Amino acid sequence: IFLPHLAASLEVEETYIMIKPDGVQRGLVGEIISRFEKKGFKLTGLKLFECPKELAEEHYKDLQSKSFFPNLISYITSGPVVCMAWEGVGVVESARKLIGATNPLNAMPGTIRGDLAVQTGRNVVHGSDSPENGIREIALWFKEGELCKWAPTIDPWLNEIN
Ligand code: GDP
Ligand code: MG
Repeated sequence: IFLPHLAASLEVEETYIMIKPDGVQRGLVGEIISRFEKKGFKLTGLKLFECPKELAEEHYKDLQSKSFFPNLISYITSGPVVCMAWEGVGVVESARKLIGATNPLNAMPGTIRGDLAVQTGRNVVHGSDSPENGIREIALWFKEGELCKWAPTIDPWLNEIN
C-alpha cells in the first residue's frame, strides 16, 4: 500500500500471523518474528495478547464441527499469544510456506513447524490461508489505531522499481 514505485500488476496483501501460546511459553517469539522479518515482509501490527474464548471461537469458526475444536479453543486461550499483521506482495501464500504443513511431522525442515514443533495440537504458529481471511482476521484481532502503515526505508532494496 505504501509502495508507490511497485509494478501496478503486483497486488499487496495482508496476512494475520499469530504465535500460539506454546510458541510464547517456549521462548520462540524472537525466532519466529525473525523469519518473517528476514524474508523481507513488512510488519504492520504486533502485540502480546490474552485471547478471550469468544474471539478464539470466532477466529476458528470454520472448524467448530471438528472433534478437536474444544481442545483447539483451550489451547489458543491457555496463555498469551503474539498477534501480528504482515504486508507484502504474495505474503499470504509465502507465509504459509514459511510456516509449513499443519502437522509438524509433515512440515519440511526449514519451515517454522518443521524446525520447531512435533504435534498438530502444538504447532506454534497460525497464518491466514487466503487474502480474504488475512483481511478478516486482522480486523478481528486488531483494533483501529493498533496498525502502523509505515514506509520502511529499505523498500527499494526489496521491491523492484517499475
Ligand atoms: P492451519 O491453517 O495449518 O493452522 O490448519 P487448520 O486451519 O486446518 O487448523 C487450525 C488449527 O487447528 C491447526 O493449526 C491446529 O492447531 C489445530 N488442528 C487442526 N487439525 C487438528 C487435529 O487433527 N488435531 C488437533 N489436536 N488439532 C488440530
Ligand atoms: Mg487454517
